Amino acid sequence: MKKYHDNTQCIHGPEHFEDPHGALTAPLYQTSTFAFKDAAQGAARFAGEEAGYIYTRLGNPTTRELEQKLAQLEEMEDAAATATGMGAVSASVLSFLQQGDHLIASSALYGCSFALFAHMLPKFGIEVTFVDMTNETELKAALKPNSKMIFAETPINPNMTVLDLKMLGDFAKQHQLISVIDNTFMTPLLQKPKHFGIDIVIHSATKYLNGHGDVVAGIVCGTKEHIELIKLTVLKDIGATISPHDAWLINRGLKTLAVRMARHCESAQKVAEYLEKHPKVSKVYYPGLASHPGYKFLGEQMKGAGGVIAFEIVGSLQDGEAFINATELCTLAVSLGDPETLIQHPASMTHSPYTPEERQAAGISDGLIRISVGLEDVEDIIADLENAFRGF
Ligand SMILES: *Cc1c(COP(=O)(O)O)cnc(C)c1O
Repeated sequence: MKKYHDNTQCIHGPEHFEDPHGALTAPLYQTSTFAFKDAAQGAARFAGEEAGYIYTRLGNPTTRELEQKLAQLEEMEDAAATATGMGAVSASVLSFLQQGDHLIASSALYGCSFALFAHMLPKFGIEVTFVDMTNETELKAALKPNSKMIFAETPINPNMTVLDLKMLGDFAKQHQLISVIDNTFMTPLLQKPKHFGIDIVIHSATKYLNGHGDVVAGIVCGTKEHIELIKLTVLKDIGATISPHDAWLINRGLKTLAVRMARHCESAQKVAEYLEKHPKVSKVYYPGLASHPGYKFLGEQMKGAGGVIAFEIVGSLQDGEAFINATELCTLAVSLGDPETLIQHPASMTHSPYTPEERQAAGISDGLIRISVGLEDVEDIIADLENAFRGF
């Protein structure tokens, strides 16, 4: 199915696109519905006897282009695009789990994934156990007769703990669990969970895949059978469907994914090395640093360390606040994967859905700062940080 190497594939898309006018870029099908030739055709489409589109919540050609491209990049059979990354997270759990099932989830997760699992799933009778997935013993101990799925992300937001995908994939296979990995921080260019036996790979396409900070969207990749189930259950009936316009923007963003990721990794490495030497920084979390436990996964599991760094400032919570207020170029905003460098404080922002105890268990201290290194000249990013450090 995959014809070219990744960088070429990002640009050239799933299929040869034939436009009557010879357009270079596939057009945007900004339409809610699709007209049928006659009653028989409408009936055949609904019965699934004839391929073709019916209504955009069920499918759209622009959305389909995005889905096929992502499935190819992840080397999985198919994909379903969603309205947001959380739409992808919720679709992946709600399609496969039902009352009485047990989910084993990583104790450190994107804040809203954690909130969904900790506070919402139990309302529907789904049991959830949170475990430190770096610890195989703890993972095994969480197993119950009704365990159905494991869910994790790697590297883990925000302190970039790297999980062993092979260990997780093998564990899931051995116990017949569906394995789900949120691959947002790596993109398929830096990490392909499928290579380690993972069943479902999801993304917040809001981040690197789109890469321009102007869309919220998500995507789920899996087998044809899994994706069909997701589309026919959660997407069709709950409705977290992506807008075709957003899908079109992501198709455009994907064309530069390879060059953007290379630059994000290169600059983040320089910023991490700068921070590690800084006297006002007590700890830097970045898998590209030999001091980080995730460093050993570079190569085999991850082709690069990505663009996100977390670090601890020497001083109080107030010093941390003063630091982020003092940056000028680095924008105080949540999200990541944009051209702009973004800086934020997980304890009061992205991870505020956690209670203080839950944050402690997930290793998120009050002094932790997260930076998503953008595409600016790295000298300017470092100069901005240096200037902010001078203020306290
Ligand atoms: C942002 C993010 C999400 C949620 O995505 P949205 O597009 O904001 O809904 C899920 N997982 C990770 C790792 C994220 O960074």
